Parts: sequence; C-alpha cells; structure tokens
Amino acid sequence: DIAVQAIDLVKDYGEGDNAVHALRHVNVAFERGKFTAIMGPSGSGKSTLMHALSGLDTVTSGHVLFGGQDITQFNDKELTLLRRTNIGFVFQSFNLLPMFTAEQNILMPLTLAGKKPDTQWLQTLTTQLGIADRLQHRPSELSGGQQQRVAIARAFIAHPRVVFADEPTGALDTISSAEVMGMLRRFVKEMGQTVIMVTHDAAAASYADRALVFADGRIVADVANPTEEGMT
Ligand code: ADP
Ligand code: ADP
Repeated sequence: DIAVQAIDLVKDYGEGDNAVHALRHVNVAFERGKFTAIMGPSGSGKSTLMHALSGLDTVTSGHVLFGGQDITQFNDKELTLLRRTNIGFVFQSFNLLPMFTAEQNILMPLTLAGKKPDTQWLQTLTTQLGIADRLQHRPSELSGGQQQRVAIARAFIAHPRVVFADEPTGALDTISSAEVMGMLRRFVKEMGQTVIMVTHDAAAASYADRALVFADGRIVADVANPTEEGMT
C-alpha cells in the first residue's frame, strides 16, 4: 500500500549549460505507515524531492502519485487543498505563530480548513506528546523541545495521509532531539501514520524504518532499519 510515489522524477533549476540537476530520474515509493528518513549531503536534492512530493514545487518531468493521484497535473488550487487536507508539515524552525497559544497553533490546520476542533484527538495527541499542560502558553513561553512537540501535534491534528518533516531536530539539543524522535516513532507505530523526514542527523535517522541516501540528485542507498553507526 503506497502513500506517495515519485516516478522518473526530474527537477532542473535553470536551463542549458547552467542548469542544476537537482533530481535525476528519481524513482521511489513510500509505503503507508512507514517512517522514512532522507539523508545525504547539502545540495544533494533532499529538499527538492520533499517539495515535489508535497506539491510545494513543480517538477521538470516525471510524476508524483499521492494516494494514486498524479499531483504534477494539479493546479494551484488543487495543490493547496491537497496540502491542507492530506499533508502535515514539521519544520526545523517549528514555524509556530507567535501570537497564538499552543492549542490555537495545533488546531490551525482545522481552523484553516473550516473544520471543528477535534477536542478528543487534541487531548490524545497532546497527552502523548507531554504538552497537555502547556496548551495555553505562547510559543515564546515554551522550550525548543516543547515547541517542536506542538508542531508535531499540529502536523497530526487533521489526520493527514503523509507527514513531512524537514530537519525536525536541527534546532534541538541531543536530549530534546531523542525525545522528539521517540515520540514521532511511537506515533508512526501506534497510529500507522506515514512520515517522511529529511535529516542530516544520523541519530535522528536511526528512529526511522528506512533511510534513503541522496547524492547529486540520485538515491545512492536505500537502507532498512538504519542504525546511527550505519548512517554516520
Ligand atoms: P538538499 O536539500 O539536499 O540540501 P536541495 O534540494 O536544496 O538539496 O538542492 C539541490 C540542488 O538544487 C542544489 O545544487 C541547489 O543549489 C539547487 N537548488 C535548490 N533550490 C534552488 C533554486 N530555487 N534555484 C536554483 N537552484 C536551486
Ligand atoms: P524540553 O526538555 O522540552 O526541551 P526544558 O527542559 O528545556 O524542556 O524546559 C523545562 C521547562 O522550562 C519547560 O517546562 C518550559 O516551560 C520552561 N522553559 C524552557 N525554555 C523556556 C523559554 N525559553 N522560555 C520560557 N520557558 C521556558
């Protein structure tokens, strides 16, 4: 059962001799309920792939099947709807709205979609993440680890088909990173959530079921049950 799939995906920035080949005919399928880490050096194409898979960016050629639909054929309106209803995002810099409480931030995807807050699910998520007693705090009143857990709750609140995480531990210390990754992994296992994470952090990647390694626009390794030692 495939959640999202890249077929012969090519992304060039610029044209002719000056073109940068960010993705060179990438083929990869992401199974439902699996946690995948995407690793590789800076500039190897990780973000470009993530942006293509999540409909944030157009591609030069090839296809992205999201739940079986080819989203490279979608217009802007359809892509916005896809992201709003089917995708959750977690960022390195948390991207919480500073004027809103943790609870308002978590519920934002539902608010934007005009849906009622699911208080039961909010309670479950925030209890599991250990932030249930922080819901009325603003982001500035929370530690980095707590802010990232708020961001994870926000990513999961609307039951998206896929959660994309872009360097989720990049701004966290070692202990907070381990806590956040442990919670993310538990969510994947308990809820069958599909998570695709870009990371430089071998320790973070060791929480995934699978690690893809990029180099120069290509997947050069595809590792099951990666270990920290194996990914360093
Ligand atoms: P990574 O996420 O692995 O660091 P990226 O996907 O960001 O790599 O970048 C892949 C290649 O595409 C790099 O050579 C980068 O410089 C280039 N690139 C990325 N975004 C742009 C852009 N908007 N314009 C031109 N080149 C870009
Ligand atoms: P975590 O393990 O989640 O990173 P910390 O151990 O860093 O949490 O923080 C402990 C407590 O201190 C938290 O409950 C939080 O409310 C508070 N705290 C941490 N950083 C800040 C901050 N920058 N501003 C306000 N309160 C903070």
